[in-house]
Amino acid sequence: MKTTRTIVLLVLLGTVGMLLAGCGGRTYLIGRSEQIQIGQEASQEFEQTARVDRTSDRARWLANIGQRVAAAAQPPEYPYEFVLVREDVNNAFAYPGGPIYFYEGLIDSLGADEHQVAWVCGHELTHVRNEHAAKRIESALGAQLLIEWLIGGQTTRNIAGAVTNIAMQKYSRDDEYEADTEGVRWAAAAGYDPTAALAVLATFSELQGQDPSDFEILFYSHPGNTDRTDNVRDYLRDNNLTGRYLGR
Ligand SMILES: [Zn+2]
Repeated sequence: MKTTRTIVLLVLLGTVGMLLAGCGGRTYLIGRSEQIQIGQEASQEFEQTARVDRTSDRARWLANIGQRVAAAAQPPEYPYEFVLVREDVNNAFAYPGGPIYFYEGLIDSLGADEHQVAWVCGHELTHVRNEHAAKRIESALGAQLLIEWLIGGQTTRNIAGAVTNIAMQKYSRDDEYEADTEGVRWAAAAGYDPTAALAVLATFSELQGQDPSDFEILFYSHPGNTDRTDNVRDYLRDNNLTGRYLGR
């Protein structure tokens, strides 16, 4: 038993080392099929309490926009799903492997503008596509399992519960910048106005001033909105992209 524990400890230490060394890179432990499975389990847990809607006109409108952007972003292919949550919250978030949740309060705040919604879909989709969500879970679970082992606690755990909590944490600055610019890229490839991101970020700034507590996932990020706006403007300029939201 002691030998087993030592081996596991060494494996975990190695894992943490790899994760630190690989910061900003791809995932090491959680493959594509595992990401899809983890995301499905987490979404099932989330939907036990969330007011999700897949059937109303607005839910289908959202899903259509998301799927247009997703089709433009292939490959690699994940089973993306864009699900409306009927709550007055200014947020959206993604689980690994495909499920993306979009709160109705955010759609209202964006004036139900399909171009702005498309960019948010592209932003969240990039967190899935580029495995940002999986990376975050790997590092969090790796450290958590290591701590549990060291204190002799249970190592078997409800992974979906952990993932649900981890989804509330922030992404890294680089991952946010990447999601912002690739969100522009995929939304534009799907035929939406590439400059709509500027309008969304301007709205975030206005709303954050009113109620910062609303912005824990998508908008409560390391880079401030000004830095994110500058990053998007640079991307638009470098790629000669224009549109009707440039003045925002
Ligand atoms: Zn993000």
